[in-house]
Amino acid sequence: MIPSGRDLDVLSRQLGRPVRDVVEIGARCICGNPLVATTAPRLSNGIPFPTTYYLSHPVITAAVSRLEAEGVMTEMSERLTTDAALAERYRAAHEDYLAARDAVGERAGTGAVPEIAGVSAGGMPTRVKCLHVLVGHALAAGPGVNPLGDEAIGRIAQWWTPERCYCEGAWDTTGQAPHADLSRHTRTQGLSPEELEAKRAARRGDAGTGGAQVTSLGPDASESTASESTASDEEN
Ligand SMILES: [Zn+2]
Repeated sequence: MIPSGRDLDVLSRQLGRPVRDVVEIGARCICGNPLVATTAPRLSNGIPFPTTYYLSHPVITAAVSRLEAEGVMTEMSERLTTDAALAERYRAAHEDYLAARDAVGERAGTGAVPEIAGVSAGGMPTRVKCLHVLVGHALAAGPGVNPLGDEAIGRIAQWWTPERCYCEGAWDTTGQAPHADLSRHTRTQGLSPEELEAKRAARRGDAGTGGAQVTSLGPDASESTASESTASDEEN
């Protein structure tokens, strides 16, 4: 599931901006294009990133936005206060999210991220604050893990279903993709264990090489990352 160069190119086109710190493709269209970008729990510049599963496909994100506009989040949040069985399954989804994120961090080499320990995304475990997060999780985890994510997928069926490809014309395929930052995997390929450890140390903010690591991301990195972090719960 490690993203290829083509995956990163498509993701950048889908989102209209360069992607960074994408370590896996969480879910794919039946045609193979990415639906969900799986992001490391700590970005290369050291910032913790709780939103592991980022919904990238414009057709799905637009459909989920319509659902949010219909007031579905309020309705679901109210049901969580009255339906004990649903609340229990939703809490289990929260636990699954945290475990999955830890596993992603392990595979990506970022290790534990204590700043966001116990904090998932999207309003879990007791509220619904972002359906994009829940749908991203449901698509990555598969049916039966996130009950409200599964339900949201069912409720956008008039606009998107997993059985069909909706990619044609869904994003601009002409010209250059927004300059694609390389994924963590790509950037760490071919490095010696010592070099990898130095990179990890830089991510942890240890003295020495940290500045070079951040600088290598380019001038817009800190700005974009900050907006992603603050927007992650509200917009995706
Ligand atoms: Zn497709």
